[in-house]
Amino acid sequence: MSKQNDDFFKNIISHAKEYGFVFPSSEIYDGLSAVYDYGQLGVELKNNLKQYWWKSMVQLHENIVGIDSAIFMHPTIWKASGHVDGFNDPMIDNKDSKKRYRADQLIEDQISRYEADGKNEAAAQLQADMDEALNADDLPRLKAIIEEHNIVCPQSGTKNWTDVRQFNLMFSTKMGASAEDADTVYLRPETAQGIFVNFLNVQKSGRMKVPFGIAQIGKAFRNEVIARQFIMRMREFEQMELQFFVRPGTELEWYEKWKETRLKWHVSLNGGAEKYRFHDHVKLAHYANAAVDIEYDFPFGFKEVEGIHSRTDFDLAQHQKFSGKKLQYFDPEINQNYVPYVVETSVGLDRLFLTILCNAFEEQDLSTEDKKDSRSVLHFHPAIAPVKAAVLPLTKKDGLPDKAREILNSLRIDYSIQYDEKDSIGKRYRRQDAIGTPFCITVDYQTLEDDTVTIRHRDSMEQERLPIPQLEQMIAEKAGWKSLLNNQV
Ligand code: ATP
Repeated sequence: MSKQNDDFFKNIISHAKEYGFVFPSSEIYDGLSAVYDYGQLGVELKNNLKQYWWKSMVQLHENIVGIDSAIFMHPTIWKASGHVDGFNDPMIDNKDSKKRYRADQLIEDQISRYEADGKNEAAAQLQADMDEALNADDLPRLKAIIEEHNIVCPQSGTKNWTDVRQFNLMFSTKMGASAEDADTVYLRPETAQGIFVNFLNVQKSGRMKVPFGIAQIGKAFRNEVIARQFIMRMREFEQMELQFFVRPGTELEWYEKWKETRLKWHVSLNGGAEKYRFHDHVKLAHYANAAVDIEYDFPFGFKEVEGIHSRTDFDLAQHQKFSGKKLQYFDPEINQNYVPYVVETSVGLDRLFLTILCNAFEEQDLSTEDKKDSRSVLHFHPAIAPVKAAVLPLTKKDGLPDKAREILNSLRIDYSIQYDEKDSIGKRYRRQDAIGTPFCITVDYQTLEDDTVTIRHRDSMEQERLPIPQLEQMIAEKAGWKSLLNNQV
């Protein structure tokens, strides 16, 4: 990461904390690694992102419905899905620093260094060698690669490595009152399995016809070997997943369709198609016949924000096998029973949140010849902004606060609105800029005479005069869901 990008990213993290978006978890106890809490504005932004996803996926599709399955599930589910035996990362420890790393990430960092030095051939060769070793689950070979390329521990600077071992990423706990009859259960590492095991329940109770989808938003847990880059890689995070059930043989068509739909969705939210790219998986997971990541250009480079996978009939077929229950669909159009194929779209809510922060954050220099000036601003799309408008009486006297509170009360049922009367009006505008409020509504002496207010726009800082009865319509037009959903078409 360049120094400039590094500084930008650090500023985002401190801004997120200073203004109540994201706090390190358990901070007064020195934090808990890779776990974060969302603050008073973070939760509003996160809820808005969930709503936007839910409306786009469920509300606007006749053939998609949602569920909310439990985090705890029968432990055999994770046997059937392959997570008990195969949800591993290759890890390696440095004996001097006692630090643990993911072997593949150490190698990827080396590839980036080769690329930065213009050694593209070496980078490509190393990538190919690593892919081959990962595909073959050849752990000694991974260690040999690390040694051959003289990869040192970033902390100790030494090559004193342990062997590479597999590390299962699932958290487990015990269910039941007494230890003896306690059963090991897992905190789900993905929300998808809750959808698969409910496939027939939803299909039958909702009279769904293939092709149809089931969507879910919920927490997932992974004991990541190393967690870094703020809310990019967490141990407790949230996913928004769609499993779309299709007739076998049509899955690649649907895969292409969802790829395009999901990319458009991200672009509609964050603008700028150049900030996104597809990254096709070279190494396909055992269950997939096609897979791609949608990557966003974070300050630390292009990284995955959403995965789209054509999962074949792997999951349903496995659950049929392990549960002994049929998970088939009778397709009246072709008069056949089959296990549907599945196309999955899976986006991490926290990573999405981070793309929004990175895209929105700006430190603007507003200096003129006579005066130094600057502001921090979050350019959120108004529909997802945590606060839609702030009502600000110009002074604390002469009935202006009463008038301002009247406006606040008329808008707050439908929109999240703040009231602020402290400090100068300029300072109050800057405070709202820093939390991304698109509109400031200023109540002044003219308001008492003609029932108009000043609307100050966050991005342009321009001001206009508007009659109070038109406020609601203005906010609905500019910050209502339609303003964002229409972006997608
Ligand atoms: P990565 O390669 O970055 O570990 P993954 O390929 O394992 O991710 P998936 O299993 O496809 O990720 O999960 C779908 C989405 O869930 C990812 O695109 C990402 O946005 C999110 N996600 C996965 N792991 C984490 C994590 N540890 N913290 C935050 N979000 C995550």
